[in-house]
This record gives sequence, structure tokens and C-alpha cells, in this order.
Amino acid sequence: MSTQGRGHGAGVARYMVVAALLTFVAPVAAQDANAWRAPFAAGQQARADGDHAAYAGEMAEVVRTMPAGHLNRPFAQYHAARGAALLADTTAAVAFLRQAWDEGIEALMISFAEFDSAFDAISDSREFRHVMGLAAEMEFSVQSLGGSVHLIRGAGSNVVAQVGGDGLLLVDTGYAPALTALRHALGGLSGGRVARLILTHPHEDHMGSAAALGAAANMLAHPGTTEAMREPYVFMEGVEMPPKSQTAYPDSEIASDTAFVSNGEEVRVAVTPAHTGADLVVYFTESRVAHFGDTYLAGNPMMFPGNEDADAFLDNLESLLDSMHPGRSS
Ligand SMILES: [Zn+2]
Repeated sequence: MSTQGRGHGAGVARYMVVAALLTFVAPVAAQDANAWRAPFAAGQQARADGDHAAYAGEMAEVVRTMPAGHLNRPFAQYHAARGAALLADTTAAVAFLRQAWDEGIEALMISFAEFDSAFDAISDSREFRHVMGLAAEMEFSVQSLGGSVHLIRGAGSNVVAQVGGDGLLLVDTGYAPALTALRHALGGLSGGRVARLILTHPHEDHMGSAAALGAAANMLAHPGTTEAMREPYVFMEGVEMPPKSQTAYPDSEIASDTAFVSNGEEVRVAVTPAHTGADLVVYFTESRVAHFGDTYLAGNPMMFPGNEDADAFLDNLESLLDSMHPGRSS
């Protein structure tokens, strides 16, 4: 969640894709890398003023000038679609949503349009329904990370699954509209029965399917995640999803570092409140895989203005490294 346009979702996977794109476009993009900032500011002002035409025009300019692969592109495309929808321009609105989907940096972000009254004028159109239905047809990729742990990813979601006789231990769920794709991917892993579910933090791309998957599983999360679930989910000003149903609430809360055995492997859960105040990192000690949620993104600490706590982040990273490499500083 962010109103600042920082990357919303998580993961090593996306970073790799972005890095590849940046490598490709860097010589061209370097001279204009910041050209989008002025129209973005003007667009936000127009939005605050209720000037739909200026909002739509400036945000279209942001999309035009923002370098390919930029982590803020999905936000820019979403705003541009929103502006067009406010003008009842179905073709342009759907084109921006489709572009965000095709670029795939955080494709499922477009699903917030279902909860956004800015799209009311076009929400019944065949074109809008089609683009909203893309999530139901998507497929996740499944990649072994070594040991018993697999990475399931696609369209801005990063889910980790530990396989074994106890049933699946899942870290995060991805966005709700991708539930079908996730279930399909899980079906190929030990029959797909989810025994445990850990949520790294209360952002929709990490807990979207908590209610659906958590009903039959033992769900664990930070107390701050439960708290956030009780409130409307604010994607951006004026775009809110209703509070989660009670079936989405965690069964157990993790307020301090803990460890347990799952599928014959010790799993450590570290509390790292920096990105949201309710962040967990999950470390599979035998497989040597850690899921950092959005706390640390392949080299980039990922923090949002207003939520960030750099000291807490560094402290927690230190203790996490101690946990992963006992005796490293002795
Ligand atoms: Zn997040």
C-alpha cells in the first residue's frame, strides 16, 4: 500500500526482471530518467483539484516519459487509466490497464480498479470486464529454490511454499484475483493442501487470498496485520477495499522472533517492522531460503514514506543475520 508511488509488491523475481529491463534501456533512458516527475506533480495537483482532463493528460504524459521497467510505472499507468475513466474514455482507460498488465511489473495492481469509483462510468463495458478477467487466466511459474522450498511467482506476486509430509507451509498468498492461478500451482506441490500460512505484512499483494487459503490452515502473522485487516484497505486516496472478513484473521500472532519445525525443518520467523510496522521475515534453515516480504528486495530496502523506520530495519537485519549465520561477528 502506498500513496507515494513506491513499488507496492515484493520480490526477488520482479527485481531481476526490472534489472534486465534497465540494462536494456539504460543508454536511452539516462538522459530523461526524471522527465516524468514534473507531469506527475502536476497530475497529482489536478487530481486534488478535481480537474479530470488535466489529471488524465498529465498522467498519460508520466507514462510516456517514465523509463521502461521503472518500479513506479504500474502506479503511473493506473493513474492514467483512472484519469481516462473519469472522462468516460473506455478505450484509453483499458489501454493503460492492459499496458500495465502486459509490462508485468506489478500486473495485478490493476485489480484495484474494481474497488475504485473513478471507473464507475466504464465498469460495465465489455472491454473493462475483459481486462479485469485476465487474472483468472494467468499462470504462475513454480521454481525450486533448493531443499523443500519453492518459489511461486507471477504478475507481482511472490509466494514461497515449503513441501513435505506435514502439508504445505505457505509464505504469503499474492493478490486475491490470482487465487485460481495460485491453487493451480499449489496443486502440483504435494497435492496442494496448505497446512500453515505465514503473512509477511498486511499489503494486498501478500495477503489477498488469506481468507480463502487460511480457512483450512493455521495462519500466522504479526498482530499489526490483524489490526490492519480490521480496517478498510487504502490503496490510494479515495480507493479503498472493505475490511477483511473474520475468516482472514490469523489464528496465531507473532510479536517477537520465534522458531518451529515444519516438514522436518526448523523455520525461524523474525519480526522486522520497517516496511509496514508489521513485517515478518521467514527463514528456512535447512533449505537456506529466506522470504523477506517487502523488507528487503534483492539489495534494495523497500520502505514507504511515513512507514519507514531505518533504525528498526537495520537492527532487525543485524539480528536476522546473526540468526542465519551464528557467530558471524565473533
Ligand atoms: Zn508491501
